[in-house]
Amino acid sequence: MFRRALIAALLAATPSLAQPVAAPDCTVDGRLADSDELRLDITYRCRATQPLSFRSVEERASSYVHDLKVEQRDGVAEARYRFDLSGFARAVDATSLAVQRGNGVLAILGSWLLEPQGYDRVPTIDIRMTTAPGLVFAAGLPKVGDAWRLSGSPVVTAGYTALGRLTYRELAVPAPGSLRPGEPKAEAVLRVAILDGVGESARADLFDWVERTAQAQSNYWQGFTAKQALLGLVPVTHRRGVGYGRSVPGGGVTVMVEVGTDVDRRRLFGDWVLTHELIHTGMPFIRRGGTWFMEGAATYVEPIIRARAGWKSEEEVWREWVDNMPKGVQAFSSTMANARGQENYWGGATFMLLADVGMRRATNGAKGLEDCLAGVLWSGLDGARRATIAEYAATCDRVTGTTVMSSLVERHFNNAQPVDLAALWKDLGISLVAGRIALDDSAPSARWRKLIVPGTHPLKRVKLPWES
Ligand SMILES: [Zn+2]
Repeated sequence: MFRRALIAALLAATPSLAQPVAAPDCTVDGRLADSDELRLDITYRCRATQPLSFRSVEERASSYVHDLKVEQRDGVAEARYRFDLSGFARAVDATSLAVQRGNGVLAILGSWLLEPQGYDRVPTIDIRMTTAPGLVFAAGLPKVGDAWRLSGSPVVTAGYTALGRLTYRELAVPAPGSLRPGEPKAEAVLRVAILDGVGESARADLFDWVERTAQAQSNYWQGFTAKQALLGLVPVTHRRGVGYGRSVPGGGVTVMVEVGTDVDRRRLFGDWVLTHELIHTGMPFIRRGGTWFMEGAATYVEPIIRARAGWKSEEEVWREWVDNMPKGVQAFSSTMANARGQENYWGGATFMLLADVGMRRATNGAKGLEDCLAGVLWSGLDGARRATIAEYAATCDRVTGTTVMSSLVERHFNNAQPVDLAALWKDLGISLVAGRIALDDSAPSARWRKLIVPGTHPLKRVKLPWES
């Protein structure tokens, strides 16, 4: 699930994205304190000869900005203000924007950071934050020295930040591509923030779940999906198990996942949301009608990752697809560009199955969809970037040495070629017999079907906590 779709219209109106520059246009010096409530004191300095103004990109946040003073002279605009973070997060109380638990907050950067207006490009902003003792500040942005750098992405599209009193850990994960044979070992960082609301042993279970899920994810992509990312877990009382998840990539990938306060290990590992959201972090935002493409990939790959980790069986994966892919058939008949609701997930997933089979057939079993997704990520189209479907498909074709993805895009996105699921199952040798999945190895494409769930790389199981 994405916040990105909501801001697509806003993005269309912003200046073209600039390449990162060595020296930032702006610096932000922030101080986070919690004498009783969480409060930010911000000093913004931007180099500019043209007049700049500073505005809140989140309308509901503007009344929590206090004592804003802007002065501009000698080519530097300076803005100072205070932000009532607790007041805002309590009033909004939405995991999609800002939420407070205890004295910790997970909030979209643009809720508390004003955006400089007046540049003819997207300015690069270096953020330095000092925190009172015991407080934390973390973002999904890359670190440059002691600064968090927002570049190539305006404040309005930036992802989550974690602030205040919360449980925070930086997990070392394998860098993107670093698990390929012959590649030197390299580390990436997954920053994990858990807001208040669960006890110490539940927090330990949550960190363990994130760590093992990141490991399963890394095995599929031959390295993690991002060089750095922030994952915020928000305890909620109105749900059991895992709740809503959301991926927001602007400037650096961030993910929010709601977790029920009744933390149960078996329920965590039986759930799909975290794996699904982490898949989003390995792909660029696909603009111009790409929701079905992004959701389709995340929906399709999620059970494969969990099956390769040993957390579900091959039959369970096929059962899930046979049961759910009919929900996406209609989308093919009116082109995927017009997919609505569930059609995005299941029409997109069916499209990815066609791509996966096609790539295995075209390469005589050497490559599959994982080589496309990982290859595109390593080529630089990562979670902080934006691309069109055509750009993504061209890169996928190049890294797999096939024309499978662009041909399917031509057929089902540019044109409305329908899909015949019954014929597809027959060709792959999949049938339901007495309510159970039966796999027929004599079917015409059974060879390629057999490679889909286990993949072509040696399988790496990820033990479940009660197995070790
Ligand atoms: Zn999603």
